[in-house]
Amino acid sequence: MTSSTGARLMRLRGYSYGRHSVCSNKVRWLCSESRNTKCHSTVVTIGRQIISPGEKHTHPPNST
Ligand SMILES: [Zn+2]
Repeated sequence: MTSSTGARLMRLRGYSYGRHSVCSNKVRWLCSESRNTKCHSTVVTIGRQIISPGEKHTHPPNST
């Protein structure tokens, strides 16, 4: 069973990210708006710790 690291979606600062790739214990998350907005902001996490906050988004946060 994977609990915290098994999630497919993550919320951060009003943006949502979909799990993009996993390398060793690092998980790379890609902005879920990337398909619509060509935003390529990614976040890298290890466990529940964010080690790379990613670049600026090309769009405002999604408040929903
Ligand atoms: Zn974005």
